[in-house]
Amino acid sequence: MIIETYPNSKQTRGDSSFCMVKTDKGDMLCVKGSDMTLFEGEVITEENETYMLCPLTVGNSKVIRDLFEFARPVSHKGHAITIGLGDRLGLASVGHLRLLRDMDVFPVLAQQSIRELNLTGRTYEDVLAAVVWAVFREGYTKGYGADGDHLKTHEEVKYALDCGYTMITLDCSEHIRNDIVSAAQADVEAEYAKIPANVTSELEERYLNKSFPICDDITIEFSKEDLMRTVLIYLPAIAHAFSVYEELIKGKGIDFEVSIDETLSTTTPQAHFFVANELIRQGVEVSSIAPRFVGEFQKGIDYRGCVDEFEKDFLIHAKIADKFGYKLSVHSGSDKFSVFPIVGRLTGGRFHLKTAGTNWLEAVRVIAMRSPDFYRELHNFALENLEEARKYYHITCDLSKIADLDNVADIDLPSFLDEENARQVIHITYGLILQNEDNDGIKRLRNEIYDLLDKHEDDYIDVLVKHIGKHITSLGI
Ligand code: ZN
Repeated sequence: MIIETYPNSKQTRGDSSFCMVKTDKGDMLCVKGSDMTLFEGEVITEENETYMLCPLTVGNSKVIRDLFEFARPVSHKGHAITIGLGDRLGLASVGHLRLLRDMDVFPVLAQQSIRELNLTGRTYEDVLAAVVWAVFREGYTKGYGADGDHLKTHEEVKYALDCGYTMITLDCSEHIRNDIVSAAQADVEAEYAKIPANVTSELEERYLNKSFPICDDITIEFSKEDLMRTVLIYLPAIAHAFSVYEELIKGKGIDFEVSIDETLSTTTPQAHFFVANELIRQGVEVSSIAPRFVGEFQKGIDYRGCVDEFEKDFLIHAKIADKFGYKLSVHSGSDKFSVFPIVGRLTGGRFHLKTAGTNWLEAVRVIAMRSPDFYRELHNFALENLEEARKYYHITCDLSKIADLDNVADIDLPSFLDEENARQVIHITYGLILQNEDNDGIKRLRNEIYDLLDKHEDDYIDVLVKHIGKHITSLGI
């Protein structure tokens, strides 16, 4: 039974018409006309009208992508500000679109890493399908991206591309030699000597006794020691990125981001310059690079570290990116309010920012607002399973700063989502919460989360508009 039609979802094509509807069985696509034959669903004839109610499956979303250009993900090339909006539940895109639809911001609505897929039990196809339905429902025609985030291997990149993803973030961390960072000089020299002499002599000719002007007052130079370490740490990562690019990315109009952020130490300006220069020299079209900035970018909480020091560090990275013409990409960008103004200003309003965890935390905020008992259950579950979750995510939180749940009144439960330590606990346990099964194999916590957010969808839209809106304002957009 149709309860209501989503007003912005109406489309026509030839003799066919389309809209999305809320029914007693959840949201559906309603199709009339000859295009009905393309979809899977139930044909309904009432009075003298025939239409088809189609469930929001991956298969039906692919037909929608085939029929309507605006429903397909596209490259973000040419857009100055691009924001990744990882949505682990597949319910946040409507809120994101309500906020961003009239802004000069290109949303990368689909954005998940393989780790997130594993922890949520979703596939790249599921993630994209959820976005397609949100885009169609909102009648959003300005274009959006789909990012296979933190992919490490050729196989993973191929999987995301086969699913229609338009951006690939290649995580080179497994090819970055962290052991070299603090290695003794003698070891560095020994390792360096193992690299074929023709390779090192070419590199030395390119980098030693040279200055690379980045802007008026910044010049990059390499001492022999800088170069040896940088080469040892990053050369395998560069080779990996080049190989993935040549084999899978080149000539396909894909936004290619190279991430060197998941390492143990901060990316030096020399390292950033070296990686970019080597990739670009070899013809790799890089759309963005994600260095590891100074300070700590922990998930779902504000920046930790000295903001002045961050500003100095970030300026150099931003200028290097400008010099080569790609964008600087800021990862773990949820809730970094104290550094957002710097990111917006020093990039001249040209950057990529990735958010993800904060969208999940806002979903939990709605649960805290609307279903106190269930929030209490999730909160306890998160605390009980924290050690397990810490295997996947690095956080430093102080459990003693989290208020005792029993002493907090129902009305004050959302305040846990304003406190950094509780945020981190709830942030990193999302996978365990969503995948938890009770004795008869039912994912009750997951089901209840989805039921509640469906019932309180307007609240979820409101909190997202407010919270992601705060990101936008801080970035100076
Ligand atoms: Zn990252």
